[in-house]
Amino acid sequence: MNAELTFRIVFWAQLMFIMIFNRVLPALRAKKSGVKLTPDHEAIENEGKFWFVFRVIAGILLAAALVFYSFFPIPSSRFQFPIPYAWRWAGVILSSICLFFWIYAQEILDRYWSVNLKIQKEHRLVTSGPYRVMRHPIYSAMIFWSAGLALDTAHAIFAAFAVVVILWTAPRISKEEKMLIEHFGAAYLDYMKTTGRFLPKFKRH
Ligand code: SAH
Repeated sequence: MNAELTFRIVFWAQLMFIMIFNRVLPALRAKKSGVKLTPDHEAIENEGKFWFVFRVIAGILLAAALVFYSFFPIPSSRFQFPIPYAWRWAGVILSSICLFFWIYAQEILDRYWSVNLKIQKEHRLVTSGPYRVMRHPIYSAMIFWSAGLALDTAHAIFAAFAVVVILWTAPRISKEEKMLIEHFGAAYLDYMKTTGRFLPKFKRH
């Protein structure tokens, strides 16, 4: 099979996987346990209006990029950069591992997972699974996944997408940690001392 086609199939398989396991199923689970996933005033305040709008616009641009990449392969190929196939396979492996890790972290976070920055009813601090050693495994997985995707597609649009994900994550984490500190107080501050932000920190209590 044509190698380019293989990379595109991997790309589509991953996107469907994300839609099902990272969006639809968690959203259904959240709904079942009575969690609201549509952003309300409080969630937008927590996230900051600018970053909320940034996220919505980035989502729309990503959808446009997906259409361009998938349905106009020939004009789109002008935006591809030549990198060795080995790098592209490395991207396939990296992004696939990140997807599983992403789903695993989301499973552990369970009903506290949300695309919005919100404290849920009876919100508990999760410190198990990947959260034992790092505070933002999902954002970490998203960053490395998007870097893997840029290598897999070897496409300027997805390289730009990886940059957008990185730019979005830093302020998002500041806001999220501020919200969690306000809610959990000393418990979260203590938790910060023993965990890494993006990467695991193995430190004894
Ligand atoms: N930043 C985390 C979670 C992303 S989902 C990660 O990258 O894995 C965003 C929601 O997770 C936020 O609304 C916040 O309320 C919740 N959250 C983040 N860390 C948490 C923790 N350790 N325990 C419980 N909820 C948490």
